Amino acid sequence: MTLMVVCTNPNCKKEFPSMIQLDQGSFQTATITDNSQQCQHCNKMITYSKENMKFR
Ligand SMILES: [Zn+2]
Repeated sequence: MTLMVVCTNPNCKKEFPSMIQLDQGSFQTATITDNSQQCQHCNKMITYSKENMKFR
């Protein structure tokens, strides 16, 4: 399983692997807010939180 980010750019909304990689148990208890990463699809620097992340 890979921890993915859903791009917060409303014109993109594609998924890409997060630079944060946790197992599912750690992810449940982790606090993840305001992480910045460049989207691999639209090349925009986005800020994302836990709610923008999912396992794929
Ligand atoms: Zn994007």
